Amino acid sequence: MQFAMLARTFEQIEATNAHYRITALLADLFRLDVADAMILPYLLQGRLGPPYAAPETGLDERRLAQAVAKAAGVGLEEIWRLYQQQGDLGTVAEAVMPVLESLLSVQDVFDRFLEIARVAGPGAYERKITLFENLLVKVGNLEARYLVRIVAGRLRLGIGDATIVDALSIARVGDTSLGPAIERAYSFCSDLGLVAHTLLAQGPAALAEIHPVPGRPVLPALAARLPSATTIVAKLGRVIVEPKYDGVRLQAHKAGERVWLFTRRLEDVSHAFPEVVAAIQGQLRAREAILDGEVVGYDPRTGQLLPFQQTARRRRKHGVAEVAGQFPVRYFLFDVLSLDGVDLTSRPQAERSRQLRQVIVEEPSGVIALTPQLETDQADVLQRFFEEMLRCGLEGVVVKRPDAHYHAGARQYNWVKLKPGSEAAVADTFDLVIVGYERGRGKRAAFGIGSLLCAVYDPDHDRYRTVSRVGSGLPDAEWLTLHQLLDEASTATKPKQVDAAFAPDVWVTPRYLVEVIAGGIMRSPLHTCGKEGREPGYALRFPRIRRLRFDRRPEDATTEAEVVGLYHREETVPRA
Ligand code: ATP
Repeated sequence: MQFAMLARTFEQIEATNAHYRITALLADLFRLDVADAMILPYLLQGRLGPPYAAPETGLDERRLAQAVAKAAGVGLEEIWRLYQQQGDLGTVAEAVMPVLESLLSVQDVFDRFLEIARVAGPGAYERKITLFENLLVKVGNLEARYLVRIVAGRLRLGIGDATIVDALSIARVGDTSLGPAIERAYSFCSDLGLVAHTLLAQGPAALAEIHPVPGRPVLPALAARLPSATTIVAKLGRVIVEPKYDGVRLQAHKAGERVWLFTRRLEDVSHAFPEVVAAIQGQLRAREAILDGEVVGYDPRTGQLLPFQQTARRRRKHGVAEVAGQFPVRYFLFDVLSLDGVDLTSRPQAERSRQLRQVIVEEPSGVIALTPQLETDQADVLQRFFEEMLRCGLEGVVVKRPDAHYHAGARQYNWVKLKPGSEAAVADTFDLVIVGYERGRGKRAAFGIGSLLCAVYDPDHDRYRTVSRVGSGLPDAEWLTLHQLLDEASTATKPKQVDAAFAPDVWVTPRYLVEVIAGGIMRSPLHTCGKEGREPGYALRFPRIRRLRFDRRPEDATTEAEVVGLYHREETVPRA
């Protein structure tokens, strides 16, 4: 397929808000040429690979502007003048480049992006700028718009994973019936390019051959919530109970000498936890493995586990050695997904737990520890264990069905979390996606943010619907950091995937999550969560930010259905 064709489709996608129309346009693209199936999903999401291994071109807007100026034969000042007017280097490039279409293929363009990404060493930036300039002079103006946006990391077509999954199914069978098989394959490799290529080149049956492989993160299983020990035992029967650690979820992969550590956002953070990497080599008796667990910082003087925020600091890129000395960590393993080439995800939880215990060598001062377990079918035994965990300073417990598979990427009742306050009507916190903010007045104006506009996720339509404005709960310094981050992700108009009933001062691409505590849920005409027709939507009552949850992907946010479900359950619970 020619890149010009892709650029025209991008333009059509930008011009519509209708989910079914976007899906149909994408399905048409996928049908065009199987040879492009691998790279199309990456380009549609403005990346050069799957999220965990996408190369970066290393060209920021300043350098891109130089390339655009040279390619168009226009002065740099003119480029910046237009940029001031339009606020988008993509449309600036479009305005200054000749009106024509190139014959470059999507694959050609992709290969050149990769070539730019590979350039390193002295003089790299000049070389990168020249390579990009050489690419720009070959393309037409509409192509230039999207080339620049992709490289600047500002494509923002608002195409989520769920939309690509639907489009792939439609491309192959004309409807969305392959959705579950595509999602299953995707949850095991986190690579939509691989899934698209497998489906379109080899057919639906080949999707079942995609299994977890070291080096490709598996979407982590998530826990549902129930209000009490009694309801848990009534629903699940005999259960395995484990402490719930409040750290950072890490999936450890090993293949021979190579070790990777992936977060829930599918980022490779191996560099940030060198002692965990070393421990995987030292304490794991397997050539190849994929392990699941939680890494938690502790105070070396007392041995006391530290709260999440402290552990999260370890995810930084610089000064790792220094922070590692101050905040050592322990990696608590609770699952094994694959062992020496055998996919264990469809084996029962109890068997996986046993296998895990067989391959880990526990050492008294080892970084890796096994998560302790208790098995019971008695609610009072579960309750006592839960209370004991709270006394030890833990967050609560995670209760697991001994016969359940590992449900990658899904929140099901195979795992249930029990935390203090779970028995209250609005049992828990909400993980919300920031989609905009208001600037604020008075003291708040100094932080740049008065309140955040937050949304829940609606996976059926791959969109974010607003549920709350929240302006309290964070320490002052964090507002400042957040302001900077949000401005980098800001957009001039409402992001495509956002459904809102009013416009905040600044729109933000759905990327960052906050954990919000609320005093309840109410009906509200101001928000679109759960809104149908002329009925009001649902909103959080007395919301307060508990913490920033940048370890989550936007798709992991609390769903619209969960909020609506909680509202109706709350209505039936007598209020104190
Ligand atoms: P919460 O917001 O209540 O902390 P969560 O949003 O972190 O929960 P959930 O999927 O709701 O995520 O709960 C499961 C999370 O709990 C996992 O992602 C993992 O990070 C953490 N966890 C801690 N201990 C365990 C354990 N023993 N088994 C499974 N998950 C655990």
